[in-house]
Amino acid sequence: MQNLEVWGALVWHYPWLMPKIVLVEGDITRQSVDAIVNAANSSLMGGGGVDGAIHRAGGRSILTECENLRASRYPDGLPTGQAVATTGGDLEARWVIHTVGPTYAKSEDRSHLLASCHVESLRVADELGAETMAFPAISTGVYRYPVEEAADIAITTVAETRTTVREVRFVLHTAGAYAVFERALRTRSGPGR
Ligand code: ADP
Repeated sequence: MQNLEVWGALVWHYPWLMPKIVLVEGDITRQSVDAIVNAANSSLMGGGGVDGAIHRAGGRSILTECENLRASRYPDGLPTGQAVATTGGDLEARWVIHTVGPTYAKSEDRSHLLASCHVESLRVADELGAETMAFPAISTGVYRYPVEEAADIAITTVAETRTTVREVRFVLHTAGAYAVFERALRTRSGPGR
């Protein structure tokens, strides 16, 4: 397990509005934070990857709330780039914030949608009063986003979004993804920042 902590780039300007960014190599379902983010698909009905792991570890109550959301606010599914919260069920985290990342396309820049996932998840976390939260590397699995691009977008967006969340943890499932996020974070917090 590796850990790296660097303060957000604007920490000196807005110390009360910048989260501490922490990188962890591990399993997001095992994080002791107020909220974990799920890289969901728009159906909200579960799936593979991190979505499947969260539903397996969190139990039936998460799916029940997702079904209720589909029946009420999101009859056509959760749009890409948006976020919505449910209970954390049996997880240590009190809430799961479901967000839908973009699928990667060489022919079209969808980085604004990946950035939106992070902005909207932070907004939902603020509404809930979550002080600590964990993100997976959204869109870098089945949705095929190159990890280098996704890491830059994720870290830059979190560092530049005003929030009352104190700590944002990126939980990377592999050593390779951890190394890419570490490079992105070091670049961002390097000299002159
Ligand atoms: P997407 O459909 O948004 O690409 P995936 O779940 O397929 O979502 O993958 C997103 C990232 O989550 C991938 O980098 C994958 O390795 C990672 N991942 C899978 N399981 C876990 C887990 N239990 N904890 C943290 N990250 C995970």
